[in-house]
Amino acid sequence: MTYDENNIFAKILNGDIPCNKVYEDDYVLAFRDIAPQKKTHILVIPKGKYMDLVDFSTNANTDEIVGFYKAIARIAEDEGLNENGFRSIANSGEFGGQEVPHFHMHLLGGEPVGRMVS
Ligand code: AMP
Repeated sequence: MTYDENNIFAKILNGDIPCNKVYEDDYVLAFRDIAPQKKTHILVIPKGKYMDLVDFSTNANTDEIVGFYKAIARIAEDEGLNENGFRSIANSGEFGGQEVPHFHMHLLGGEPVGRMVS
């Protein structure tokens, strides 16, 4: 599989489609999910072209990987998610229910998020 340059998150990164931005640095862009599943629902995406968790973990360099997780920690603090806890989810591939083929982490919280798999 190759990276789809026309996926919706690539278009957001290119500035072709707007987003409700929460945070941005050299490594990541974070924005609010268009169809929030919980009171707070943020998507964190690397700026590099990675399809999923395995692609990112295998092919991103150390700075990109560290930058990604440092940004998640900062966003979790800044958005108040870390105070009472939250859930982070990365869906991968068909069985994982991934809809957008650009690696992303969902941060869900602001209220109890329930059981992990229903
Ligand atoms: P996944 O199923 O893990 O690939 O999640 C994709 C997520 O992207 C879903 O929760 C969608 O609601 C969200 N989404 C799709 N298009 C947009 C968009 N233009 N802006 C923000 N979130 C989006």
